[in-house]
Amino acid sequence: MIVKAAAKINLMLDVVGKLPNGYHSLFMIMQSVSCYDTVRVDRTGENGIKIISSDERVPKDEKNIAYKAAEAFFDYAGISDRGIEIEIGKKIPMAAGLAGGSADGAGVLYILNRLYKTGLDEFSLCSIGEKVGADVPFSLTGGTSLCVDTGGVIAPLPAISDCFIVLCKPDMGVSTVNAYKQIDEAQRIRHADRTAMLYAMKNRDTALMYEKMNNVFEQVIEVPKRPYIKQTMKRCGAKAALMSGSGPTVFGIFTSEDEARLCFNKLKMQFGETYLTRPVKRGIEEV
Ligand code: ATP
Repeated sequence: MIVKAAAKINLMLDVVGKLPNGYHSLFMIMQSVSCYDTVRVDRTGENGIKIISSDERVPKDEKNIAYKAAEAFFDYAGISDRGIEIEIGKKIPMAAGLAGGSADGAGVLYILNRLYKTGLDEFSLCSIGEKVGADVPFSLTGGTSLCVDTGGVIAPLPAISDCFIVLCKPDMGVSTVNAYKQIDEAQRIRHADRTAMLYAMKNRDTALMYEKMNNVFEQVIEVPKRPYIKQTMKRCGAKAALMSGSGPTVFGIFTSEDEARLCFNKLKMQFGETYLTRPVKRGIEEV
């Protein structure tokens, strides 16, 4: 079975404190976008989880989020017959703040629930996913959502107005672990206006949403090309431009397709990993 697994952007990302278990408590407004990995999972009849991908950067062992998701699923469902092959077609830029690994993990959970006819509901799949990675529950459900704490508590929000979203990843990777360390070491974080943003999202007040979009990681993660990319997006007509996740990808939101295309063409010449996308309503889709 094969699925498409969508990337996400953060329309808002704030770190609001620490949970009793020591994890960071997050406030994230997430949006799925039409940039997809493909995930194929088949049963092999032999024991063991095998990962294949034509992209040599994709880990092929237990470090892969897709592998961890499969193991967590088998543990949860009490399945000992674990012979599967996972093939990952990588298109979502890696270590980019776009939750590519989480999307693959979500794809694996979705498929295994069908292959093994376990009939788990979305809530159960999300709780398995949350243990594997903060963005897995959202990657399973997709659309537009508020995710808090470690990513597991999700409230669906009204879909954002149709638009065009340019993703541009400068040629550097950001380690998520290091990004949280920087947050911990920062003297002071200027928090996002979460109340106004939620109000904007619930009331589909797009102008207010553009104004309140905020990612606190921009205060601690230095991405030398970020000001240039944002400026290029704004000059082309972007209504808002922001870094996604812990970076370094920057996205710009456009209401005009022509302006978005112009921006895409400009940035694509300088940054190979540039994509023109649309917001989508689902995280996982069967192919
Ligand atoms: P997030 O926005 O959730 O922080 P990200 O886009 O920053 O995610 P990923 O692309 O998901 O980061 O992965 C970051 C690292 O995780 C990679 O450098 C890679 O070594 C490892 N990894 C594990 N599984 C995968 C996978 N299926 N696809 C890509 N990277 C993976």
